[in-house]
Amino acid sequence: MNKIYFTLLSLLLYCVLTSWGFYAHKKINETSIYLLPSELALYYKQNIKLIREKAVDADKRCYVDSLEPVKHYIDIDKIEDTIDSIPIHWSKAKEKYTERKLLAQGIIPWQISRSYHILVEAFKNRDSEKIIRYSADLGHYVADAHVPLHTTSNYNGQYTNQIGIHAFWETRLPEMFASQYNLIIGPAIYIPSPLDKAWEVVKTSNSLVDSVLSIEKNLSKKFKQTDIKSYIERNNQLTLNYSDSYATAYHNALNGMVERRFRASIHTVASLWYSAWVDAGQPKLTNLKTSSELKSKGIEKPTATKSLGREEWH
Ligand SMILES: [Zn+2]
Repeated sequence: MNKIYFTLLSLLLYCVLTSWGFYAHKKINETSIYLLPSELALYYKQNIKLIREKAVDADKRCYVDSLEPVKHYIDIDKIEDTIDSIPIHWSKAKEKYTERKLLAQGIIPWQISRSYHILVEAFKNRDSEKIIRYSADLGHYVADAHVPLHTTSNYNGQYTNQIGIHAFWETRLPEMFASQYNLIIGPAIYIPSPLDKAWEVVKTSNSLVDSVLSIEKNLSKKFKQTDIKSYIERNNQLTLNYSDSYATAYHNALNGMVERRFRASIHTVASLWYSAWVDAGQPKLTNLKTSSELKSKGIEKPTATKSLGREEWH
């Protein structure tokens, strides 16, 4: 019984703790608020708790909606040898590869554009519930797109004998080091084409995949196998994870990459929220539906124990 419980719990935790990890997603959404112009910032600050907590609803949906997981990544290498050969627009890409293939390889840049346009509509309708929900979701997908391993089929190092690197880069490292990151970031800017921006983010992420993998591979050769992983306490449980010294060495060897992607995530999230508001005609954000109505409607806890999408490989 204990064993079954433990297996279910680790599966649940493992999926839940993917894509920047819960801590990082919440921090990214929360920090983005401070980059907004004052009128918009005031509204988001009033709803800061929901914007923060709902940053991870998109990951929770992976348990209940089989269409959700593909929105979080794109396996560029499974679509084309060179990223620039992929048509930016969904209709053109669909024509070239078929919708079925794209849905198999991930659709994150198009999802960002879709979430953006839904948010513009929510602003136009001055619907507070939807503004919050779609802002949080957009923040999630944008942040995921900044993670290099969300743009490759070797997303967990499974083809290069580096299984575990996915959560190592995007969860363990930010949890250890994000408190030291410089989160003073310039103000949000207007982004004329969210789709172009989404592709720019994905291209930069994809260009970093080789470094993420090769730096860890080289580092692992300098460490004794027994020093790479150790039992650490996490959520009041002892789990086998990358050791503090190995994580520190990897973080140093990446030379600021995680911090740069973290900061870039925040700037892009804030800029897209701001742009959506501008595209909606800068509606007044007073006397909207109160956010307290949302509390009972959130995704509280996944009831399923297994993600319907890809599982990380331990
Ligand atoms: Zn995600």
